[in-house]
Parts: sequence; C-alpha cells; structure tokens
Amino acid sequence: MKLILIGPPGAGKGTQADVLSKKLGIPRISTGDILREAVKAGTPVGMKAKSFMDSGALVPDEIIIEIIIERLGARDCINGFILDGVPRTIAQAQALDGHDVAIDTALAIEVPDEDIIERLGGRRVCPDCGTTYHVKSNPPAKEGVCDACGAALIIRKDDDADVVRNRLQTYHRETAPLLEYYKAQGKLEISVSHSDVTGTAAEIFKILGIS
Ligand code: AMP
Repeated sequence: MKLILIGPPGAGKGTQADVLSKKLGIPRISTGDILREAVKAGTPVGMKAKSFMDSGALVPDEIIIEIIIERLGARDCINGFILDGVPRTIAQAQALDGHDVAIDTALAIEVPDEDIIERLGGRRVCPDCGTTYHVKSNPPAKEGVCDACGAALIIRKDDDADVVRNRLQTYHRETAPLLEYYKAQGKLEISVSHSDVTGTAAEIFKILGIS
C-alpha cells in the first residue's frame, strides 16, 4: 500500500503512521525526521533547513523533493510505504506524480486548530530516543524525565506557541489545498482524530479496509 497521511502539525500523523507501519510491514517515511537527523548531523541539507524549521516555515520544495525521491528509491519501499508529513505542497505532490509514485490513498486526519494548540503546547520529547509525551494526556512517570532512557525531556523549538501558530497558518495556506488535489484524483479519504490514539487507529483501519 502506498499511503500519504495529511494533517496539521500535532494531528497524530506520526503516531498513526507508526501503528500502520507495524501492521502492514511497510516503512513510515517522515521528512520531518529526516530533516531533524540532518540538522543534528550538521549536513549541508540540515544547515539549509534549520532556520525554516525553527520558525515554523516550510523547507523549500527542491530540498524536500530531492530527499523524498531518493528515499523512495530504497529497497524497503518496494512493497509500499507510508508518507508522514510529505507532500506538504502542491509542487511536492506534482513531483511525486511526475516520478510515477503511484499513491493509492491520501488520508486526511482532521483536528480543530484549538485542539492542536493544546496538544503541541503540552508536548515534550526525548532528545535522545525520540519518545514523545504530553504533560496532561501522556505524562512520563517522573516529570521531565524520559521513561524509556532517562534523558531530560525537552520542548521542541517548533512547539513554541508563536511557532505553532505559524505552522498552522502554513498548513492552511500551503498544505490544505492538497485535499482538493487528491480528491480530484479520487484518492482522498478523511478521518477525524479522536482524543485517544486507539480510537483514531480503529477508524483509519476501517477506512483502509484493514482488519
Ligand atoms: P514535522 O515533524 O513533519 O512537523 O516537520 C518539522 C518541520 O520540518 C516542518 O515544520 C517543516 O519546517 C519541515 N518539513 C518537514 N516535512 C516537510 C515538507 N514535506 N515540506 C516542507 N517542509 C517540511
């Protein structure tokens, strides 16, 4: 299955993509993760991307298109993949179509803006192992400390309130038009995010006909 997950930042795309990846045995591909790795490693791509990411803006299309086309050429993508957070612009979607990446379904996860602000404001992440927490809905056993590896949890720079507002505006302006794009291709499915991860996963499985 070749699947795209579309949704605002904090919609739970990453979590759902992980669930689907395990269930279907196909990789989850997140350009956000690839870029964060590049920033951490200080590569030329990472150095170019950092200021865009820190301000909540999109990284330029040509950088993303190169990254994603290269990644989709890897052997583990032969039986399908789940794209998490890419494409995020019409130009990126057209580039995938231009490279004959035959997407089966674009699944939109809908969440109201107020819920996003609440979710991302309380998000804490482990800088070492990547485990994600929420101060209210999914707190670690000991405040500020990762359950999995004991590292001190941090707030992602782009989860800062002003940056979140920027990311939401960017989503509505640049990414939401993809819904019409995939609807016109007859590939769009819409799911509404529930407050619990399992409820959302169950709805997505139903939409995709996975038992
Ligand atoms: P994410 O973890 O998917 O929210 O991505 C974090 C940040 O990386 C975004 O706010 C963007 O700055 C950048 N980014 C990730 N994926 C893309 C993409 N497909 N197009 C443009 N920028 C992206």
